[in-house]
Amino acid sequence: SNIIIKTLKMMLADKLKRYIKDYPDFPKKGIIFKDICPILSDPEVFSELINKMSSREIYQNADAIVAIDARGFIFGSAIANQIKKPLILARKKDKLPGLLIQKDYGLEYGDDSLSLQISSISNFHKFVIVDDLLATGGTAKCIFDLLSSKNKTILGLNVVIELSALEGKKILDFPVLSEVIFS
Ligand code: AMP
Repeated sequence: SNIIIKTLKMMLADKLKRYIKDYPDFPKKGIIFKDICPILSDPEVFSELINKMSSREIYQNADAIVAIDARGFIFGSAIANQIKKPLILARKKDKLPGLLIQKDYGLEYGDDSLSLQISSISNFHKFVIVDDLLATGGTAKCIFDLLSSKNKTILGLNVVIELSALEGKKILDFPVLSEVIFS
């Protein structure tokens, strides 16, 4: 059955590679933008991907999922709905009301800031972060720092795509689970 599972894994990663489209020099020169929209427009592949992500062991011990603005919301909400765990939104500047914790960070193509509602995390201790893509790791590190500042535990990061050449994993002190790796 291990062989069967491995074959299924390869099949999904291969499918994802065929579905993810590259856009060179978007949104800035030198960046190869990985577009996940073709995955979303095929219900079979989208559902296979969400099943795969949701079945990862890391979620079993999680109290909640933190999804990152904006494409992380798509995958995070589908996973949270499937595994029936609370979903928390990490949002860009000036989007969330109420008492917030906020931090600036650098990403592959610019700078930004992420915030969490303090009330959204106060009842939980262990989190899994969900995003569409890991590049330099700056975004995930920002969430790690925000949650750590409130003494929370980060079990890991689950992304659809990992750009391994950028070595984002190196600055992250928690496991990274990616569904397809581009080197
Ligand atoms: P980073 O903080 O450098 O790991 O960048 C990850 C974040 O930026 C994710 O939220 C991605 O949506 C976005 N991102 C960075 N690089 C790319 C890329 N080449 N294609 C698509 N999205 C990207």
